[in-house]
Amino acid sequence: MRTHVKVAVIGGGVVGASVLYHLTKAGWKDVLLIERAELTSGSTWHAAGGMHTVNGDPNVAKLQQYTINLYRELEQISGQSCGVHITGGIMLAGTPERLDWLRMAKARGRYLGMDLELISVAEAKKLFPLLEERHFVGAMYDPIEGHVDPYGVTHAYAKSAQVGGAEVVRQTRVLECRPRADGSWDVSTDRGDVHAEHVVNAAGLWAREVGRMVGLELPILAMEHQYLITEDIPEFKGRQEQLHCIDFEGEIYMRQERGGMLMGTYERAGVPWSPRTTPWDFGQDLLPNDLERIAPSLEVGFQHFPRLESAGIRKIVNGPFTFAPDGNPLVGPVRGLRNYWVACGVMAGFSQGGGVGLALSRWMVEGDPGGDIWGMDVARYGDWATLAYTNAKVRENYSRRFRIRFPNEELEAARPLRTTPIYDRLAAENAVWGDYCGLEHALWFAPRGTPAREDITFRRSNAHAHVAAECRAVRERAGLLEISNYGKFEVAGPKAAEWLGQVMANRLPAPGRMVLSPMLNERGRLIGDFTIARLGEERFFVVGTYAAEVYYLRWFARTLPAAGVTLRSCATEYVGLSVAGPAARDILQPLVAEDLATAAFPFLSFRRVDVGMVPALLGRVSFTGDLGYEIWVTTDYQRALHALLTAAGRDLGLRHIGGRALNSLRLEKSFGTWAREYRPIYGPYEAGLGRFVDLDKGDFTGRAAARAERASGGERRLVTLDVAAKDADAIGDEPIYHDGRVVGWVTSGGYGHSVGKSLALGYVERAAAEATAGFEVELIGERCRATRLAAAAFDPEGRRMRA
Ligand SMILES: Cc1cc2nc3c(=O)[nH]c(=O)nc-3n(C[C@H](O)[C@H](O)[C@H](O)COP(=O)(O)OP(=O)(O)OC[C@H]3O[C@@H](n4cnc5c(N)ncnc54)[C@H](O)[C@@H]3O)c2cc1C
Repeated sequence: MRTHVKVAVIGGGVVGASVLYHLTKAGWKDVLLIERAELTSGSTWHAAGGMHTVNGDPNVAKLQQYTINLYRELEQISGQSCGVHITGGIMLAGTPERLDWLRMAKARGRYLGMDLELISVAEAKKLFPLLEERHFVGAMYDPIEGHVDPYGVTHAYAKSAQVGGAEVVRQTRVLECRPRADGSWDVSTDRGDVHAEHVVNAAGLWAREVGRMVGLELPILAMEHQYLITEDIPEFKGRQEQLHCIDFEGEIYMRQERGGMLMGTYERAGVPWSPRTTPWDFGQDLLPNDLERIAPSLEVGFQHFPRLESAGIRKIVNGPFTFAPDGNPLVGPVRGLRNYWVACGVMAGFSQGGGVGLALSRWMVEGDPGGDIWGMDVARYGDWATLAYTNAKVRENYSRRFRIRFPNEELEAARPLRTTPIYDRLAAENAVWGDYCGLEHALWFAPRGTPAREDITFRRSNAHAHVAAECRAVRERAGLLEISNYGKFEVAGPKAAEWLGQVMANRLPAPGRMVLSPMLNERGRLIGDFTIARLGEERFFVVGTYAAEVYYLRWFARTLPAAGVTLRSCATEYVGLSVAGPAARDILQPLVAEDLATAAFPFLSFRRVDVGMVPALLGRVSFTGDLGYEIWVTTDYQRALHALLTAAGRDLGLRHIGGRALNSLRLEKSFGTWAREYRPIYGPYEAGLGRFVDLDKGDFTGRAAARAERASGGERRLVTLDVAAKDADAIGDEPIYHDGRVVGWVTSGGYGHSVGKSLALGYVERAAAEATAGFEVELIGERCRATRLAAAAFDPEGRRMRA
C-alpha cells in the first residue's frame, strides 16, 4: 500500500469504486481505495442491480442517465463485463392519480431528452403478459431500463481506475482518520498508515462508523430489504427477456432473473437494520428472511400477476442498505472538516453511482461539482437531522417508496419537532402546518370549526379559497405572517465589510439600509440570494434560505479570514413576524417611537427599534410586494410581539396568513426563490437578478464570469407565464413549449389570487424569451396555452412596496 496519496477512498462498494474511477478520469492518478474485505462487501454484492432513469429531481435524473450510459465505457476500459441488460421497463398505474403522476413524469422527461411513452393497459399487457388487466388504468414505457451485475460493475470501475493509475487494497480496514494542521489526513489501517491529502468516506453500510472516526454523525440509516426469485416460469422459455416492471399500487418491482422472476417490495412495515452501530463482522452475509413482513405486498402481487402465485420461490434475499431521510445520496465536502468528502447514503447505486462519482470527482479536482447537485448535497442537512430523526424519516421514506408524493402533501414522521414560541397561538387560529428542516410553519389557516387539514391532490385543493382570502387581506388591508424559517447570519468586525463585499455580488448597503444580493461561485452561477442589512459600519444581519444554512457556512468558511470577522449563524435565535399590506404602517406606527413615514423610514430601511417593550430589528421590506415590515426578535420576545401586533391590527383588518399565501403573492411579483428559480445552474442575468450585481464595485467572487455572462447574454431567461390552466396550476418541472417545441421548464407556479391568473415562473431559451404569445405549459398531460408577461402581474412598478 502506498504511504502517501492524494486521495484515500474508504470503501470498495459500487460507490467508492466509482469515485476512484472518476478521480483518475478527472486527472488525479495518485489515488487509493481501501477496502476492509473484498470489493462489494457491503450492500453492493446482494443488490438486485436494477437501474432506471426516472427520478423526482430532474438533476438527479440527469446523473442517472449518465450512469446508465457509462457502463459500456467501463467495459471497454476494463475488459470486465458489467452484465448490462437493457430490457426496457413499464410502470403501471392502478389509480387515476398515479396515471396523472406518470403523465407528469413523462412531461418532465421531455426536457431531459427522455423517451418515455404512455401506453394503454392492453399495450402494457402485450409487453408484460403476466399482468392482470383489470387492476390497472394505464402505464408508461421507458426503453432505458434494465439491470447490471453488481459484482461486474464494481470490478469494472475498480479495474478502470487501476488502468488510470489508482491502487486498490483489499482486506485492509480503516481504523482511524486524524487531521493534520495543513488539512491533510493520517489514515490508520490494520495494515499500516497512509498519509492522504483528501479522504472520501464511501463506506456504505459503515459510513456512519467511518464518519464517527472524525466526530461526524451522518444522517443515514440502513433498512432491511427483501426480494425473492421464483422458480422458472415455463412461459418465459424461448421468449425475449421480460421487461422490468414497477407496480406502484402493488408496491412491487419485478424483472426476469434467468428463467424466473425477481420480485421485490418496499413494505410499509420496513425494519431498520443496526440502527445505532453497524457490526464490523458483517460482510457478505444475508439477514434472516421474513416473508411474513412482505406477505401483504406479495398477496397484492399475486392478484395483479396471478401466474407468479404458482411459480414457487427459489430464493429469498434479505439485505441491508442505507438511506438518507429523503432517500437521496449524501455527497460533497463536509463543513468544518478540511479535505473530507462523503459519498454515501446511495440507495440506488446502479442508477446513481456513476453520477455520484462524476459530481464528487469534479468537486474535488475542479472545485465545483459541475452541475446542480443540491438534491444530493450533504449540506442539505443540519444538526437537526439527529439519529432518531433520521430513523423516523428513513422508515417513512422507505414505506412510501412507491407511493405518490403530492405537491401539497406534508409528511407526518418526526413531527412536530421544532416549534417557535407562537406555535400554540397559530394552532389556536387553526393553522395547517408544514415542515421545513424539522421546523413547523403555518401553510394557511382553515376557518374556525373546520378541520385544519388539506386534501392532497395534483389539482387545486380545499385550501384554494382560504388562501385566496389571505391574499385578499394582504392586498386590501394587512396580513401577519411568521417568517422564522429563514437562515440568519450575523457578520461583524473590522474586516466584515471587506469580506462580505468579496463574497456577495451586490454593493453593500450603508448603515441603516438593506440590499438584495446574489452570491455567485467562481463560475458566476447563483449559489445564494440574500437580504443584507447593515446595522453599523462593522455589523451586518444577513438573511437567506434556512435549508441552505450549512451549505452557506461551508462556502463562507473557504474565504473567512482568521481574524477581523466574526460570523455567526443565528437562524433559530431570531424568529420573525412580518406585517404586510396597505394598513401595515397604521398597525405598526403606534407601537414604535420612530417615524415610519416613507420620508423617514423608506423602503429597504433597517434599524434596531423597540416595538412596545420588545427590542427588535425592523426592516422595511416584504416578499409580498406590498407595503410591509419584517420584524426580527429573539425567541423570548416573540409571544409579546405577536400579542402587540394582533391587538394593534384587530380593528384594521389584520389577519394571519401562511406560506401558501406568500407563495401566491410573490409569484404575482415574479419574485424568485432559492432552490427553485435560483440554483447553481443559472447565472444572475439569466435569472433576472442582473440589477443586483454590481460589476463596478471592485472584485468579488464570480465577477469575471458574471461580466462574461452579461456580455454574452447567457443561454436562457427566467420568464413569468400567465397559463390558461383549468383546475391545476403549475408546480415546477413542467415543460414549457414555444411554437410546439420544448424550450424550457417551469421552476415554480401557482395561482395568483389577487390578479386572478394561474402563474408559472420558468426558464426558456433566450430567443424564445423575446416572444409573448405561442407558449404552452404541460399540466398533467394537457398542454395549456400560456402568455409571457412583460412585467410582474401585480404592481410592476413596485409602487406599493415603496408607498
Ligand atoms: C436486497 C437489496 C437489493 C438492492 N437492489 C438494488 C437495485 O436493484 N438497484 C440499485 O441501484 N441498488 C440496489 N440496492 C442498493 C445498492 O446495493 C446500494 O445502493 C449500493 O450497494 C451502495 O453501495 P456503496 O458503495 O455505497 O456501499 P456498500 O456496498 O455498503 O460498500 C461499502 C464498502 O465499504 C467497505 N468499508 C466500510 N468501512 C470500511 C473501513 N473502515 N475500511 C475499509 N473499508 C470499509 C465495506 O466493506 C464495503 O465494501 C439493493 C440493496 C439491497 C440490500
